[in-house]
Amino acid sequence: MNVTDFRRRLRDWLDTHDLSPAADHSLDAQVAQLARVRRALWEADWMRYGWPAEVGGLGGGAVLRAVLGEEVARRGLAEPGIWSLVEVLVPTLIDYAPPALAADLVPRLLGGEEQWCQGFSEPGSGSDLASLSTRAVRDGEHWVVSGQKVWTSLAQYAARCVLLARTGGPGHAGLSAFLLDMDTPGITVRPLRTLHGVDEFAEVFLDGVRVPGDRLLGAPGDGWRLAMDLLPHERSTCFWHRIAHLHNRLDRLLADGCEPDADALGTVWLDLHTARCRSARTQRSLAADGRLGPETSVDKILLATAEQRLYDTARDLLPGTVELSDTGAWRTEYLYSRAATVYGGTAEIQRNIVARRLLDLGKE
Ligand SMILES: Cc1cc2nc3c(=O)[nH]c(=O)nc-3n(C[C@H](O)[C@H](O)[C@H](O)COP(=O)(O)OP(=O)(O)OC[C@H]3O[C@@H](n4cnc5c(N)ncnc54)[C@H](O)[C@@H]3O)c2cc1C
Repeated sequence: MNVTDFRRRLRDWLDTHDLSPAADHSLDAQVAQLARVRRALWEADWMRYGWPAEVGGLGGGAVLRAVLGEEVARRGLAEPGIWSLVEVLVPTLIDYAPPALAADLVPRLLGGEEQWCQGFSEPGSGSDLASLSTRAVRDGEHWVVSGQKVWTSLAQYAARCVLLARTGGPGHAGLSAFLLDMDTPGITVRPLRTLHGVDEFAEVFLDGVRVPGDRLLGAPGDGWRLAMDLLPHERSTCFWHRIAHLHNRLDRLLADGCEPDADALGTVWLDLHTARCRSARTQRSLAADGRLGPETSVDKILLATAEQRLYDTARDLLPGTVELSDTGAWRTEYLYSRAATVYGGTAEIQRNIVARRLLDLGKE
């Protein structure tokens, strides 16, 4: 199906199937709503477009997934951050998981039956991910994993975790990746409260967790390569629908009667539009090459800049709305927007990547 037909038919379907969320904005309600929306879209086939038949998909380009995310975001059907996780994890999982495992488990995530999480960061290893110390030791047909992860988004809801652990010596080459069942004995999840008052992420403690050998993603030592394939998705493709959400918020800012500062509002629109143009280019290059790389750090910088500018402008043009309310959406979203220059790799790290890997400016 071409993109225009897909969008038209999807809109018709969404117009006649009410998936609007309830008024409850708690994280529990958002996660339940995400599952409800995915399930309905999967059953009606919309969630299957853009994914290969091997994982229950109907094929077609990844751009169909972007269009679906955009329509979901425009109608406010699912929280855009948690909608992203599929886009972040699944392309790489399909590339690295044993085919039977991907065929069995990926449909459960796409179809809203399960939520998953990404266990990369550790207390001492965020930007310097290659220094992580969670260890996996082979024991017959199993691996035994011990260590600690942190900032693991939605770990308390997750049935599986894409986990990075050290199976060899220090540095990149000693890392491997696993798909872990979160109900395996030895896993303890402790939710952490964010600045905006939501238990969105968690500490994950791993104590002698036995992982079957067929849960290794790729070969031993492929962990860094997997991370380098996965992170560009976290830094780009999932932004297409996030930008649609941010455009909604700009419209809401005007509807809420903000001060009519044309310069400030114009700058926000321009930043959002710049991020959207860049994102369209990334969608095109994904369609052409099937791969993404360090150039996605530009998408991440533009998205974070646009998002923070939007919420800074809301704070300035709706005086008191952010500072004086404890619970309002503008305050919550303003606080969450501070995370845009941290998650998926900080703003400084993205600029280092642009300097070193795209502009070849050397280490210093
Ligand atoms: C909302 C949110 C959700 C997240 N979800 C997940 C998740 O699901 N799974 C997961 O694994 N992780 C997750 N993270 C963690 C995230 O990936 C890390 O926070 C991020 O990579 C930064 O690591 P850190 O927090 O350890 O900071 P650090 O690496 O300790 O950095 C601290 C400061 O030092 C700067 N810095 C560090 N190194 C350099 C350098 N070489 N050059 C210049 N400046 C440098 C950084 O830019 C930053 O300002 C999430 C984070 C947030 C905010």
